[in-house]
Amino acid sequence: MQYYSTRNKGLRYTAAEAIKLGLSREGGLLTPCDFPHITEKFLRELTTLSYQERTARVLELYLTDYSREELLQFAENAYNVEKFDTKEIAPVRTLNEHTCCLELWHGPTSAFKDMALQMLPQLLSAALRKTGEEQKACILAATSGDTGKAAMEGFADVKQTRIMVFYPENGVSAIQEAQMVTQEGMNVGVCAVKGNFDDAQTGVKRIFSDEEIREQLAERGFFLSSANSINWGRILPQVVYYISAYCDLLKTGKIATGKRVNFCVPTGNFGDILAAYYAKRMGLPVGMLICASNRNHVLTDFLSTGVYDRNRTFHTTSSPSMDILVSSNLERLLFDLSGGNDQEIHGYMKSLAEEGRYQVSQQILTELRTQFWGGFCDETGTTETIARYYREYGYVMDPHTAVAAQVLEQYRAATGDKTPAVIVSTASPYKFCDCVLTAIGEEPVGEGVALLDQLYAATGMPIPARLAALEGKKRRFHDTCEQAEMNRAVLDFLR
Ligand SMILES: *Cc1c(COP(=O)(O)O)cnc(C)c1O
Repeated sequence: MQYYSTRNKGLRYTAAEAIKLGLSREGGLLTPCDFPHITEKFLRELTTLSYQERTARVLELYLTDYSREELLQFAENAYNVEKFDTKEIAPVRTLNEHTCCLELWHGPTSAFKDMALQMLPQLLSAALRKTGEEQKACILAATSGDTGKAAMEGFADVKQTRIMVFYPENGVSAIQEAQMVTQEGMNVGVCAVKGNFDDAQTGVKRIFSDEEIREQLAERGFFLSSANSINWGRILPQVVYYISAYCDLLKTGKIATGKRVNFCVPTGNFGDILAAYYAKRMGLPVGMLICASNRNHVLTDFLSTGVYDRNRTFHTTSSPSMDILVSSNLERLLFDLSGGNDQEIHGYMKSLAEEGRYQVSQQILTELRTQFWGGFCDETGTTETIARYYREYGYVMDPHTAVAAQVLEQYRAATGDKTPAVIVSTASPYKFCDCVLTAIGEEPVGEGVALLDQLYAATGMPIPARLAALEGKKRRFHDTCEQAEMNRAVLDFLR
């Protein structure tokens, strides 16, 4: 299987090259040239397999330059009971007759980013070997909280790599900051940036396009790479859990062979829901893909009008990983829906860069509307939903998951669609103790790690061991810099 760029179909890459590059030279996203097809028989076979085996069986369809044995080994290294607190890895919980929750936060950092970031470092290391790369990868990430920690956890002590994470000084939750500044590993670095997430993100993007620093890095034996969801090696492992969830529903008799399910996904950068679309594209029986947003509902508006417009106020919400105005992975979807028209996509992205907006063709809009439904949930709706699901089902949700749960209700009310639906649950409620405690009617006492015990006392839900272990853990990183000093921070880190 080969890969090409959404903005230039002329150049072709192997899977290993695509994963190593992260992003195409002209700024496009690397995307498979065609999609493998899965059958009912394939799905039936998968139902009897473990999550690790399912992973190898799905990944080998795309990563044709990796062997099944290799992929199975990676999956076993990534998803095991030392790292995950359940042997099911990505369990599906039943809420009611028509609704389930796919829990993706049982990994080492308690957010769904682990599902991909436990695999990516291994795929990347193998890619370096396969392409005969002698330089070391310097991975840079700007994070609003979850990506940075999950990326460091995945890359910690991985040979031939260094990883540096920048987070906004006052823009992440107390737990998230504690998780990052206590990170272990000889090859990791963390630095707070004065400003908000956009400042950190802009700083990282500037480093990527700075020829001078690339040269300085090359002299020290490094090339730049990305752990963000623009990397194909992050999207692909996410396709697996949609297929796996479907197999679990088949296995437990919740759905019959060939019957469709809907997925409702809390969305930020559009990576997670794109993986659901790819699973559908491969032939998984999926009905509607429901795209859930918070107050930053640029995607809801886009799905209703066909106009993507980032010129609007940015809101900080209780679901910070969805506080985003430019959803990078939408580009891959539009590329596919346009029938692979790289010139058309190039035009949209140019317009986004220059004017902050673009309008898609009628053809794309029609196609979008048959497969996607968009809705958003505000702050009151989020806390009200956490409270209600706790009351009705004894189920504790984090704010991102609650946004999805509420948008699913809106979808059902608006369409009357009774297809069984899976809510994608992206974070442990323990990452957002403050918000969850308040929602269920408890007054938070103290802050950060101190609230873990309070949430436990209130709900009886087990505290993820690694979050509990943060208490009293030694802080390793203390640096703060201005955006303009980020280059220097990277060079110092690689000294
Ligand atoms: C990253 C993240 C999301 C958004 O996922 P995208 O792939 O960016 O759409 C949702 N919830 C949580 C908890 C996240 O960390």
